[in-house]
Amino acid sequence: MFDIAIIGAGPAGMSAAIYARRAGLSVAVFEGEMCGGQMILTPEVENYPGIAHISGAELSYTMSEQMRTLGTEVIDSHVDKVTASDCYTVSAGGKEYTAKTIIIANGAKRRKLGIEGEEKFSGRGVSYCAVCDGMFFKGKITCVIGGGNTALEDAIYLSRICEKVYLIHRRDEFRAKKILVDGVLSTPNIEIIYSAMPKEIIGDMKVTSVVINTADGERTIDTSAVFVAIGLEPQNQVFEELVALSDGYIVAGDDTHTTRDGVFAAGDTRTKSLRQIVTAAADGAMAATEAEKYLFG
Ligand code: NAP
Repeated sequence: MFDIAIIGAGPAGMSAAIYARRAGLSVAVFEGEMCGGQMILTPEVENYPGIAHISGAELSYTMSEQMRTLGTEVIDSHVDKVTASDCYTVSAGGKEYTAKTIIIANGAKRRKLGIEGEEKFSGRGVSYCAVCDGMFFKGKITCVIGGGNTALEDAIYLSRICEKVYLIHRRDEFRAKKILVDGVLSTPNIEIIYSAMPKEIIGDMKVTSVVINTADGERTIDTSAVFVAIGLEPQNQVFEELVALSDGYIVAGDDTHTTRDGVFAAGDTRTKSLRQIVTAAADGAMAATEAEKYLFG
């Protein structure tokens, strides 16, 4: 039996594992995809204290190596279920594992637009990750949907690869940080289309255009790719019988305590006001420390 089962290996889960291993606890981290979570999809990280500039992929790799070197057991399986009895049973990849405490750090996934053509052209021009897929559209015209930090970061990243990037936002004001807004405004090959909602993605074998609704009526933009960056959606259906949720997020404060003793929630998956790599990492440290207190008083 593990002292702690950590679900998810983004910055929250990996930070929890690092703290827990350094406290001498036995730790299993369950990760169905690559270690890093949303961080791995981030082109450039420039707000993590002590590291002026690093790619999300490199920071993910560094954290993962640190976590593994400390002796964390990483189980490459997606968690299907967690049940509570005298201890916790984690069902993952057709096997069952037991643990005395649980830290849920499964993050959140990118939201979908839900418009015609999105599903059909997913992987054929529709993408949720500029860093992963941007190079496929080298020298081409692309567009990014959204007005938050991710959309603007993606637009800036793509502007260095693509001939032109349309940034399509539903309002006339961005919610992204000023440094990113200044960045898109000063990039000559980014054209911003404000107050526009995507209606349909069109193509044959691959995406050829996107139809948007604007104040002046419908407009068709020729593009080879549509990068969707319209926010995050928690993936907590599997935990709804274990802990309380609010709008899909696990109800937990800064101490990471959920509504169930022995279960902690860290990072983007919990109710919180600031979702950043540094706040996820801080949550992981807190959750591991609270789990240790729960185990040993
Ligand atoms: P976000 O901040 O929630 O922004 C989502 C954007 O998509 C908003 O501009 C929103 O429009 C728009 N949107 C939402 N639903 C839409 C729809 N159905 N159709 C069209 N547009 C839609 O999401 P995010 O940018 O992915 O960021 C997620 C979290 O990670 C945030 O907390 C963010 O601050 C953080 N993050 C931080 C950094 C950084 O610090 N460098 C980088 C990336 C992400 P409205 O503005 O009109 O609501």
